[in-house]
Amino acid sequence: MICIIGCGASGMLAAIQAARAGAAVTVLEHNDRPGRKLLATGNGKCNLTNDNQSLENFRGECREEIAGIVDAFSEEALLSFFREIGILTKEKRGYRYPRSEQALSVVTALSSEMRRLRVRVLFGADVTKVSGSDNDYEIFYTIDGKEYRMRSETVVFACGGPAGERLGQSDFGLRMLRSLGVPVNDPTPALVPLLCKNPHAKTVSGVRMEAEVTLTVGNESYKEHGEIVWTDYGISGIPVMQLSRYASEALRDGRCPVTIAVNSLPDMTAEEISAEIGRRTSEETFRGRSAEEAMDGLVPKKLLFVLLKDSGIDPEAPVSAVTEKKREELVRRLAKSEYTVTGTRPWEYAQVMRGGVPLTAIDPESCEVRGHAGLFVTGELLDMDGNCGGYNLQWAFATGTVCGRAAARREARSKG
Ligand SMILES: Cc1cc2nc3c(=O)[nH]c(=O)nc-3n(C[C@H](O)[C@H](O)[C@H](O)COP(=O)(O)OP(=O)(O)OC[C@H]3O[C@@H](n4cnc5c(N)ncnc54)[C@H](O)[C@@H]3O)c2cc1C
Repeated sequence: MICIIGCGASGMLAAIQAARAGAAVTVLEHNDRPGRKLLATGNGKCNLTNDNQSLENFRGECREEIAGIVDAFSEEALLSFFREIGILTKEKRGYRYPRSEQALSVVTALSSEMRRLRVRVLFGADVTKVSGSDNDYEIFYTIDGKEYRMRSETVVFACGGPAGERLGQSDFGLRMLRSLGVPVNDPTPALVPLLCKNPHAKTVSGVRMEAEVTLTVGNESYKEHGEIVWTDYGISGIPVMQLSRYASEALRDGRCPVTIAVNSLPDMTAEEISAEIGRRTSEETFRGRSAEEAMDGLVPKKLLFVLLKDSGIDPEAPVSAVTEKKREELVRRLAKSEYTVTGTRPWEYAQVMRGGVPLTAIDPESCEVRGHAGLFVTGELLDMDGNCGGYNLQWAFATGTVCGRAAARREARSKG
């Protein structure tokens, strides 16, 4: 029997693929239902995968292993699998969602397929410990406070990491794998908003805008472009979340300062910004306007107000009174306002974990841990963190598939 810990994205795929190949499967899930985190994905719409399969979207050190796993269950195979179990998809800017745009459809289809294949799922089963070694594992769990144990030749850790803590996530898998002697890279939150020093945070909170953001740690810089959201604690939005993996690791390791620079007019060159501001401070059309009125329309009003103030310009004073020095300062700040990053939001606000079991520690053709026969690891517990856009679920589905099929082959061999 294959014992799978966790009835989330990778656990369900592992269970289905193993059961399809004829193995008996038991899944232990501490929540009272399957795929609680899956239900929260893509704002409840579940962004399953992406038509842009460029490998740079799957981030982590072990490039060859990542490529092998992604290839083994490609986007095409994934879409065909979901079609087969009743999930048609729709595409928006390359992002793939179920046609219903409801994550619940995905969880229901996966649950129905597990039921059809007679996968045994114990809900409310909180795994507290796993002991043993090669082909002989003991899994301890509680249901309603009562203690149980189960013996299995094959155990799959599909219980994710601490990202999204409020959905029942924890560092249990990391701790337990370490105790079994499996190497684990230290975890840090990724795809998470950043906390920044910004004296005007409350004023700009809620403003959404297109921007280019650059995160700098020492001599290294990372750039992203897209819609950012100013908040009362710092900055959020997809481009900022994509950069967060570098910030959280640097801050954990004490590599400071970490800064984030916002270019509020990314579609204009510095010369174009300068010419536009110059025109607004000198041409007749703007002469009777206040500085704020003259600059209106370049960036959202609340942000404009603080950029003017920070440049030493009184927003209500006539634009004609703006000195050249202050004008240059405004041009500089429009192209680059820099903030010190002081941290990330806590684990509960992170979408994924960076860190976990290094891919060199597993056989990428099976997800079995090297030197630990019968011990498999899938999904987020492996050290790969994908970009926003469906890459993390695709990874969970791909590793679940690779693992489920391999675990079933093992079972078949051991039965003779
Ligand atoms: C808010 C949010 C939105 C997201 N949106 C997207 C998106 O749109 N697209 C995308 O690609 N990725 C998204 N992600 C990331 C994606 O959800 C994860 O990468 C993926 O679910 C990881 O799959 P997994 O199987 O490794 O873990 P999970 O899906 O987290 O499953 C782990 C399961 O194990 C169970 N478990 C944990 N500990 C125990 C225990 N001790 N005993 C028993 N059971 C246990 C958990 O309850 C859970 O059901 C999002 C994440 C969050 C938090």
